[in-house]
Amino acid sequence: MQIPFRKIHEAPKPFCLKEDEVECSGTFRRSGKHRVTLEGELKGEIEFACDRCGALFRAPVEESFTLELVDRPVKVEESLDMIECLDGIVDFDGICKSEIGSMQSEYHLCPECEDEEDFEKEF
Ligand SMILES: [Zn+2]
Repeated sequence: MQIPFRKIHEAPKPFCLKEDEVECSGTFRRSGKHRVTLEGELKGEIEFACDRCGALFRAPVEESFTLELVDRPVKVEESLDMIECLDGIVDFDGICKSEIGSMQSEYHLCPECEDEEDFEKEF
């Protein structure tokens, strides 16, 4: 799903899309001349790679996020949670994919390694 930046208005609009086993839904609205605020939620199952043994495993996720989208270049110091849409197009699929990607890049252990870690803690 792609929407031109200039067609986004101040009244919040819902969106909902699916990326593999993950549903990404929420609302987006214009929050400034060059700014759109997107509040979303990821819900479903994501495939993670275990940081200890490398095994791939799926785990349920439910996480909400807020992003600021801008249609002009931003300074580095204000770029946290900001996405530049310099071609004037808001690419919801791309946003959803990058949110999933950033969750996958966090630290994860597969269920077996997690058990082991609990085991180690007890002794
Ligand atoms: Zn593991």
